[in-house]
Amino acid sequence: MHIAGFQKQSLIDYPGNISSVIFTQGCNFRCGYCHNPTLVLPEYFEANINPNEILTYIKKYQNLLNAVVITGGEPTIHRDLPEFITKLKELGLKVKLDTNGTHPHVLRKLIDAKLIDFVAMDIKHILSLKQYNKSVGNILTKEIFQKVIYSIAMIKQSGLEHEFRTTIVKGLHTIDEIRSLKLQFSPNYKIQNYKPGKTLNPQSLFASFPDEELKLMDQICSITY
Ligand code: SF4
Repeated sequence: MHIAGFQKQSLIDYPGNISSVIFTQGCNFRCGYCHNPTLVLPEYFEANINPNEILTYIKKYQNLLNAVVITGGEPTIHRDLPEFITKLKELGLKVKLDTNGTHPHVLRKLIDAKLIDFVAMDIKHILSLKQYNKSVGNILTKEIFQKVIYSIAMIKQSGLEHEFRTTIVKGLHTIDEIRSLKLQFSPNYKIQNYKPGKTLNPQSLFASFPDEELKLMDQICSITY
């Protein structure tokens, strides 16, 4: 595991739970609007945190926590993710995994071994290879796109608590496309509005949706601002 960040306690990352949050390093997508370039672009990588240090901390304070959230970057690119989560489960903690869905074989392994309790998957765009590719930095292959679609089906059928979510970006998504996503992924679907700031591609023409359009969308989706 390459771990770049650790938040000791969060009340919001796993709703209804007090969790620690682990940020893994590295991602196989290049979403231009991504707010975590230091977790995605190798040229910005900083020193890793030893996973054993995190396990030691969690073990010491496990009476103050009941869950761990593993986010990224993209956690499923790390081969030893199942072994790491096994150690968390041995402490009796619930585990929420955030993923972009590109490694369904890892998801399958985690689900079958009952190593995760909640999975949140990013849906980058409507399920068209062309549109999805625009969102993830034009690096999508047909094969990876099929894996994303396979992960969606697997999560829906898993019986696990789950959530699909989209960061909506003006310049990337239309209201009609967002409406179509809502129809496809309800009731476990959330959108969040893009916020300008430090992003992977500062040259891009992305913007937030204005309030008027958000109000219109609020009638079709649950929005977090
Ligand atoms: S927003 Fe895109 S590039 Fe950033 S971590 Fe998520 S999947 Fe990777």
